[in-house]
Amino acid sequence: MSAQPFIEVHGARENNLKNISLHIPKQKSRSSPGVSGSGKSSLVFDTIAAEAQRQLNETFTAFVQGFLPHYGQPDVDSIENLNSPIIIDQKRVGGGSRSTVGTYTDIAALLRLLFSRIGEPHVGPGFAFSFNTPQGMCPECEGIGKTVQLDMDKFLDRSKSLNAGAIQHPEFKVGKWLWKNYTLAGLFDNDKPINQYTADELHALLYGADLKVPFGEFNTTYEGLIERFTRMYIKKDAAAMSDRNRAIFEAFTNSQTCPLCQGARLNQAALNCRIRGRNIAALSDLEATDLLVFCKGWMTTPSRPA
Ligand SMILES: [Zn+2]
Repeated sequence: MSAQPFIEVHGARENNLKNISLHIPKQKSRSSPGVSGSGKSSLVFDTIAAEAQRQLNETFTAFVQGFLPHYGQPDVDSIENLNSPIIIDQKRVGGGSRSTVGTYTDIAALLRLLFSRIGEPHVGPGFAFSFNTPQGMCPECEGIGKTVQLDMDKFLDRSKSLNAGAIQHPEFKVGKWLWKNYTLAGLFDNDKPINQYTADELHALLYGADLKVPFGEFNTTYEGLIERFTRMYIKKDAAAMSDRNRAIFEAFTNSQTCPLCQGARLNQAALNCRIRGRNIAALSDLEATDLLVFCKGWMTTPSRPA
């Protein structure tokens, strides 16, 4: 079937398509130019790719299908001569910190299944190998692979006082509400340069947790600068931030590879589980062709005792 040189589409009506029929040559790089709204995505993603993915998923057992995304039948009379697809869709790659080639191609789901079945020592079901689940994620970096810290040298100009604008972050500028949280707290001499603070004063400025301070008509819990910044920015998913907040976030932080998982994003139980000496992180990092070589070698030379 795959020897047919054309993909044949008959009567495509998905979304705004008006009963389109066409032949698409295979084994060639194709682009489908057209103005926005003319139906390119409806044809390529919602019709051809959706049907190819659906047909491919039907070749797996019901158990495996439970791990795969589900696709409805596209509105089309017929599509002939489809190959197995790898779909790289229009999602913004790199927008989220949790996307890799593996997650885009569904290879990751199959690798997790494989490790849950035959990896040793046995860890558990597939989600124990996912950096998106509490059972699988590295506890240090929460599955991001990096740890992020506030860069205090960028955040504070220690030669200045609070009144003179020591805090560099735009949301903490002199006169702003967040700035008043510190200058009206009654904890500091607002005209004293930060580099003349005592150790206790500096600690209160950076990590003042649990200090109750009178503020306006009601008592409020004071937060140190590092605590507040961490809550406002670091504990937020960077992918969900506005562009402006992400730019601020990146300007005032340093990130480094997670010291616990070394960037692999998984907890130690998942990383210690191996198939023929390799863990899931090592296999996920392989180029697709090398992964195929590894799997073929493993499938033709069974090494695991029954
Ligand atoms: Zn980690």
